[in-house]
Amino acid sequence: MIDKESDLHQLYQDVIMDHQKEPRNFGTLSDATLEREGYNPVCGDRVFLQVKLEKGDQEARVGEIRFRGEGCSICMASASMMTEEVEGHPVSQVSQQIESFRQAMQGNGEITKDPESDLAALSGVRRFPVRIKCALLPWVTLKEMVEMNGEAKR
Ligand code: ZN
Repeated sequence: MIDKESDLHQLYQDVIMDHQKEPRNFGTLSDATLEREGYNPVCGDRVFLQVKLEKGDQEARVGEIRFRGEGCSICMASASMMTEEVEGHPVSQVSQQIESFRQAMQGNGEITKDPESDLAALSGVRRFPVRIKCALLPWVTLKEMVEMNGEAKR
């Protein structure tokens, strides 16, 4: 049992390292619709997000998404994973994804129901309250960004 747990821990470490070394959707969009910077003073993490909104059937969708920034491995890996999770989804769905991730990081519910998702690797972060802010920074920044846009359009 103990071996299994440490195997899982190692797997999670490897997934986080992989995202840190080769972040997905890292870079800049020249034609972004929305952009926002987030800062976590506790750890010094900084994340800059850009999104290109696309017209969907009933509401806008998150098209291309890019991030850049400087921060700890948890923050950068979380940003990288987040871009993979939300790309192509309608804005209201993205808001829900962010909210359920936030709740899960704070101990309410599962981080992901998708066994294929790399997000599960962030489960261990929940045991380190200080690092939860690191993992949440990209998500909170994205939420503020898409919700501010929603209000501006009303
Ligand atoms: Zn951090």
